Amino acid sequence: MKLLKFSLHILLAMILSLGAKVCMAADGVIPPTIYPQPAECIISSTDYVPLTNIVIASQDNSAIKWAEKHLKEWYGKYAPKVTKSATAQTTSLGEEGYSLQIDHSGVTINANTIQGVRYALYSLRQIAIPQRGSLQVGGWIAPVGTINDKPQIEFRGVHICWFRETEPWEVERLIRLAAYYKMNYAVIESWGTFQSDIAPWSCWPDGTMTKREIKRLKAIADDLGITLIPQINVFGHAAQARGYAGKHSTLDINPKYQPLFEPLGGWNWCLSNPETRKLLQALIKERYEAFGCPPYFHIGCDEAHQPSCPDCASKPYSQLFLEHIEAMNKTITSLGARTMMWHDMLIEQGDSRWQGFVVNGTRETAAGILKLPRDIIICDWYYGGAQSAYPTIDYFKEQGFSVLSCPWNNSNGIIAQSRNAHKSGIMGVLGTMWHHYFGASLPNIYYTLANAMWNPEANISTSVYDDIRQRVHTHIRQIGWDMKLRNPRHGGTYYEEIPPEPFLNN
Ligand SMILES: [Zn+2]
Repeated sequence: MKLLKFSLHILLAMILSLGAKVCMAADGVIPPTIYPQPAECIISSTDYVPLTNIVIASQDNSAIKWAEKHLKEWYGKYAPKVTKSATAQTTSLGEEGYSLQIDHSGVTINANTIQGVRYALYSLRQIAIPQRGSLQVGGWIAPVGTINDKPQIEFRGVHICWFRETEPWEVERLIRLAAYYKMNYAVIESWGTFQSDIAPWSCWPDGTMTKREIKRLKAIADDLGITLIPQINVFGHAAQARGYAGKHSTLDINPKYQPLFEPLGGWNWCLSNPETRKLLQALIKERYEAFGCPPYFHIGCDEAHQPSCPDCASKPYSQLFLEHIEAMNKTITSLGARTMMWHDMLIEQGDSRWQGFVVNGTRETAAGILKLPRDIIICDWYYGGAQSAYPTIDYFKEQGFSVLSCPWNNSNGIIAQSRNAHKSGIMGVLGTMWHHYFGASLPNIYYTLANAMWNPEANISTSVYDDIRQRVHTHIRQIGWDMKLRNPRHGGTYYEEIPPEPFLNN
């Protein structure tokens, strides 16, 4: 054993000096793996030690309490004993980095903040397994190894949709999985499901996104180290329902509020109606408070249509649009947050510079960008495969905006956009899920996004999909244990064992 430990350290020193990212694999054994893949990592696939004590070196005292609470939650009566190291010193690991050492004397964690300690323990949880050879769990073991880890991208977010059909436990699970995969922001978009007190008629009567539920989710998110960001669409998508569905969360049931929306389809808010602005500002304030005063607020603004009402048509639409966004931004900044918005209405269709990228703007809406306050964060969405350049991102950056690159479910696209975000030094990445939080899509998006955002230059394999899926399913199950899920519908990535026909092959 001593010889193995000695050679492990020599090998480790060699590997770390090369900056390599490996896990040790023995022949015929699938090596323990951590998502997202750590920056520097060497873990044995055969040499396991009992998980009985953890020494935490951190100057953040709350980290010790956090570790004790969650180790108890994960391992019950077999939880390892936590000791605070007397020699905790600030390290070069930054705000979110950590080192994790597992050897025959126990586990040692070094981190500057509670976030670093959380991340160390998330990594440990992914590689710890129950002791072998018994009917029931009788203790835990972890593979010998050393990890030195920190993220390369600061803002690592996921955008989660809360549809009428979405159940609160699903949102909670997506938030918990995002935190477990070391994402630090989750935008929560209500699709007519937020139960507003000031305008209860604006959402579906059976919407499950209540203030009480948001408060509960925020407490969980805060504890797990991820910040929730609310979203209200203040331009297009005013129907708060998918375009294909043809539903309208306000007008289907409450037609008297038609003046707030453009006559054709009710898709856009009517920007010339002063009542629209007043309502949206009040809704933003209400939602901001419901989310516990977060640092960011997303106002959507994608895929809007041309106006169809005579009042909006009588003024230059560029002016109406600009004044509207400025008013929304002023409300948000006065609350103490920063505005986020989608990019596509801010560039003009037909402009050859954006060929192949997402462009929905007209000359009127694209003109507004030159005058928009630069504290607005532009969320540039592109859902295709890898591109060699991202000219729209360069454009917004050159205009002086903070930019987030926003991929969807294309693995190569997620990786390429994260690499570009890292290389170009923009604010970060905000991955999207939309209605693809089921089946194969969930493991694919979360695995790829988490890995690409944490360590964009690493080799992110998408070829051993069965292994990836098995691991993500294991992590989803662990989160289900934390949530104390009991309903068979709440396991896995579909409600039922045999999913609806369109999903059968996923
Ligand atoms: Zn109008």
